[in-house]
Amino acid sequence: MTILVTNDDGVHSEGLRALADALRPFGELIVVAPMQEASAIGHALTLRRPLRLETIGPGVYGVDGTPTDCVNIGVSTVLGRLPDLVVSGINKGWNLGDDITYSGTVSGAFEGALLGVPAVAVSLQRPPGAYDFSEAARASARVVEAVVQRRLPARTFLNVNVPTGRPKGFRVTVQGRRNHVTTVSERLDPRGQAYFWIEEGENLWESHDRSDYQAVMEGYISVTPLHPDMTAHSVLPAVEELSLEMLTEVQ
Ligand code: MN
Repeated sequence: MTILVTNDDGVHSEGLRALADALRPFGELIVVAPMQEASAIGHALTLRRPLRLETIGPGVYGVDGTPTDCVNIGVSTVLGRLPDLVVSGINKGWNLGDDITYSGTVSGAFEGALLGVPAVAVSLQRPPGAYDFSEAARASARVVEAVVQRRLPARTFLNVNVPTGRPKGFRVTVQGRRNHVTTVSERLDPRGQAYFWIEEGENLWESHDRSDYQAVMEGYISVTPLHPDMTAHSVLPAVEELSLEMLTEVQ
């Protein structure tokens, strides 16, 4: 079995190393990750400049691009075929609820799902002090083992979020909702020109017993099944009701 590992914190991130070490027993491991940190880069694909592939070590490669670039270069160039699994992480900081749309970590797994490969994204809650990836690495191995044994439906992937400390267990969750308040600070540079700094949004989470946020807050490892299909299926009838048609021009 071949596993393609990526992340958005960069190829030198300790979370990536912890994940790779945890997954090595499963088979052939190829790591292709961004040369520089690409957190909050979402599902971006680099189309307007060339990309370089650098060998970091045996089976470990860096790309000066995004996690989505890494998965594609990993598949097309490094492997020359699809892997059996794509795993992205372990991210420094959780990727919960609506915030997953910004996440490069989740997007790495998203790209795997788009390519028809089972995929898992793993993120770890930010601790008060230094990061300890041991429990998240253990959780990653457990999830990968289960996915390999039981498979996932086509074009789906798992978003795994691990709490700090000793997890109480796994909980299957839904994507939570954060009422979005992003703070933008405005300052002046030394030449008197304004610049802006986007700060992390406030934690205004809607309460939901089954949400990913709730699970992590209660000390559980959250496992949310996701799919790239963003169609609001339940809203199809309401849009049909709009009776959209082109107005015919009357001459
Ligand atoms: Mn990150």
